[in-house]
Formats: sequence, structure tokens, C-alpha cells
Amino acid sequence: MKTVFSAMRPTGRLHLGHLVGALENWVALQKDYHCIFGIVDWHALMGEYEDSSQISENIIEMAIDWVACGIDPEKSILFVQSQVPEHLELAMILSCLTPLGWLERNPTYKEQLREITTRDLQTYAFLGYPVLQAADILLYKATAVPIGEDQLPHLELTREIARRFNHLYKKELFPDCKALLTKTPRLLGIDNRKMSKSYQNAINLSDPEATVRKKTTSMITDPKRIKLADPGHPEICNVYSYYQVFAKQRQQEVYEWCTGAQKGCTDCKKILSEHLLAFLNPIREKREELGRHKNRIREILDDGAKKAQAIARETMRQVREVVFK
Ligand code: SF4
Repeated sequence: MKTVFSAMRPTGRLHLGHLVGALENWVALQKDYHCIFGIVDWHALMGEYEDSSQISENIIEMAIDWVACGIDPEKSILFVQSQVPEHLELAMILSCLTPLGWLERNPTYKEQLREITTRDLQTYAFLGYPVLQAADILLYKATAVPIGEDQLPHLELTREIARRFNHLYKKELFPDCKALLTKTPRLLGIDNRKMSKSYQNAINLSDPEATVRKKTTSMITDPKRIKLADPGHPEICNVYSYYQVFAKQRQQEVYEWCTGAQKGCTDCKKILSEHLLAFLNPIREKREELGRHKNRIREILDDGAKKAQAIARETMRQVREVVFK
């Protein structure tokens, strides 16, 4: 079986965007790949070093979300990055051979420095985060990484670092790593901006029923539809795009009641909230059950760290052999 590596930063509660953008795909990949899923807390620390108090709680909550959504610890390795220090050792070696220009040209780095104004990201670690990311992937000799198109430049950097390593040390130690491009619907937040914890516009997997209803009610709709008699334009309405993801069977019906001005936006959103709850309730119930057994979650992560470390140690033995021969 080929190895797939993917990871998330434990920076807050997971939301619907994470579920349809990544987790559902991860669950499906478990059938055909040996999957290694990392909770990358050092990456979280790069952005949250001024107040790191939430990271350890976020790690547990993230593991709960993963398992509740169908990531199976019997099939896949779930682990916390900082429990496998080999990530840092490989990152150190890779940082020695990564030209500074590759990091300074990274489009995400520049974009985040521009966009994130509430935190000071002008740090040595943040510039070098693609090197740690490369180490995360290469440590397990993953040959596939499930990503969206926007993350392609990152993966390309990992591949370039791997090629440079193999070339310098004259050994094909790291395999070429391909993108498993995932076509996932892009869900906007309830205010029509990108769904994000920092915008407080996300519907979280852990939100209670009443919160899901409240958030759905406050979703922005077609701004030109003011009265019930105004025909709407579902193609520009975020509520309709949620129907396209979570209640496909009703798309046509919604299109007709909207364009034909047969139903108002309030009713349309109420019906959507029922579909969202039908989707979210089983996940939330599973979350609550897992939340009552946090020791079991810690055991899963400890066990995952042991399995991940066994692979990581072997890779580092091979790396040391060629670097310090
Ligand atoms: S009826 Fe539904 S789809 Fe149409 S504008 Fe209102 S909320 Fe959007």
C-alpha cells in the first residue's frame, strides 16, 4: 500500500469546511492507502507562540473530531507531531540545504504576512515552516499528499527539497511525492467570507443544535431578494450552495421556490438547518461520547506516536547514514 501523509494545525475547533474540504476525503483514502495523519502542533505554535495556552486542548478536540468523522485508528496512524522529535531533526538537516530564496518566494508566506495583522509572524520559524512541512512528509516517505490546488506550491517545494537532498547525497532516499488533488466544494462562512475561525463565521462540528440553527438563520442570502414576492438568484446565494453540498436531493426544488418567489429566505434557511443537523447530529453525538473518554483518545495518540516514531527512526537512521557517512 502506498503511504499518504496529511496534517492539520490544532488551532481551534473543526468546522464544516474542514469536513467537506479534507476529512471526508481522508476517511475515503483509508480504504486504499496506508494513511498517516498528523496533528501538527509545532506548526500551530509558529502562529500562536504569544499565547500557546489553547494548543493542548485543541489537540484532544481535534483528535475527537477526526475519530467522530470516521478516521479509524485501527487502519490509520493518528499522532501528535511534537511526540515524534525526528520531525525536528529532519527539518534541521533539510533547512541546511534549502536556499533562502525558495522560502522568501513562497506565495503563502507573503500572503499571510500581509493578511494576518493580529500576530507578529516575522519570525525565523515562520519563514521556515515549509521546511518543517517537507520533513513531516518525507519522514514517512509518503508518495501521495491529499491537497487542494491552492496548496500545490507547498508540495512543489517539498519535492524540490527532496530532489536536492537525493542529488547532494547521491541516493534516492526520498521518493517523489505526488499530489492527490481533491476536488472539494469550497464552503463560505455564514457571512460569505472564507470560512475561518478567525472570522467567527464557521459552523463547527461541535456546535450544539441551537447554535447551528442560529448560525444558519444569520446566513447572508441574495441581497436583491427583499420581499417574498421578489424572485431570487440561487446561483449567488450562499444558502443555495450549502444545499448543493448537504442536501443535493433538494437543489432543484430550492431553485424553483427561490426563482419562482414561492418561499421566503427565512423558511429556506430553516429547512437547510434541518438538513445540516441531520448531517451534524451523528457526528456531535459521537463527539460527546468520545469526549467522555478522553483517556482513550490520549491512548490512541500515544499509540499512533509509537507507530509513527518507528517509521521516523528508520528514516532518520538512513538519513544520518548518507549525510554523516
Ligand atoms: S430562497 Fe433560499 S436560495 Fe433563494 S435567496 Fe433565499 S435563502 Fe437563497
